[in-house]
Amino acid sequence: MEYRQLGSSDLRVSEIALGSWLTYGVGVERDRAEACVRRAFELGINFIDTANVYGRGAAESFLGEVLADRPRDSYVLATKVYFPMSDQDRGLSRAQIQKQIDASLERLRVDHVDLYQAHRYDENTPLEETMDALSDVVRQGKARYIGFSEWTAAQIQAALDLPGVERFVSSQPQYSLLWRKPEAEVIPLCAASGISQIVFSPLAQGVLTGKYRPGQAPPADSRASSEEMGGFLRGELLSDRTLSAVQRLRPIAEGEGLTLSQLALAWILREPNVASAIIGASRPEQVEDNAAASGRTLSDDVLRAIDDALDGAARA
Ligand code: NDP
Repeated sequence: MEYRQLGSSDLRVSEIALGSWLTYGVGVERDRAEACVRRAFELGINFIDTANVYGRGAAESFLGEVLADRPRDSYVLATKVYFPMSDQDRGLSRAQIQKQIDASLERLRVDHVDLYQAHRYDENTPLEETMDALSDVVRQGKARYIGFSEWTAAQIQAALDLPGVERFVSSQPQYSLLWRKPEAEVIPLCAASGISQIVFSPLAQGVLTGKYRPGQAPPADSRASSEEMGGFLRGELLSDRTLSAVQRLRPIAEGEGLTLSQLALAWILREPNVASAIIGASRPEQVEDNAAASGRTLSDDVLRAIDDALDGAARA
């Protein structure tokens, strides 16, 4: 496993990180979830991403239990705040940030997280209030650094322009071979501002592993077949056009001695502004497959062949 600096922070994070949306504390049974985390550490993954809202606290509670016997300085822990935790509890007001960080720390059984992320931009709270409150979380020692997820370039710039507040070190966008939107504005702005990308759904929720075939029902043990986890995996992502395009990547991956998952992750890691690709995993073998993408580089010819094979299936 190789490691990269996270933005302007002093954190070094593994190129492959382990996430916990839909999976841990929710859709993946406990023993298997635990095995995934164990395998991740064995393979050198040191970066764990979660959020208060995943399973409404269940993912954080699971991680609190399984991380409890590991030295706190042996992993980099990131969580998030914004989405509703109850009918009243939502958003990025000062009161919510204060309340939600304490609840997250309690569930995670730690006295600080390394990275506290605004899970989205809160249109209903003045940006000054949000940034002040996030900065206080850092000043109180409850988080080492702050980040955001899916903010626009204008929102990021507005935060960077505020005086006297902590500076963001990370951006967590959706980014993959099939979803290139961050390339236009967010990545250039972040690259110039000491902010790294930590990418979510780098395998397009499993679509880029090639296990979903055009014209065929999804495998029974996959996210797309899961009642608990499949709700966000639908539409264009599972269209025959997209699935056929992914199958056309197979010979390219094979030519490089890579699995399709590894090709998709190595493609993300070709971007120097990316610090880490945050994978999900329902089985330890998936963690193994994905972790092996770290350190693999793709030539310009391969990058061109990938775009030719996708033939417009990627969305910008
Ligand atoms: P991925 O694109 O990595 O998809 C993960 C899923 O794909 C797995 O749960 C598994 O599902 C399948 N899979 C993974 N690796 C393999 C493999 N090698 N072979 C076959 N199948 C595989 O990422 P996620 O969509 O899960 O997102 C990753 C993380 O990003 C989340 O856990 C979360 O931490 C973060 N995230 C953040 C968001 C935000 O708003 N900031 C939004 C979404 C995610 P299965 O086996 O069930 O088919």
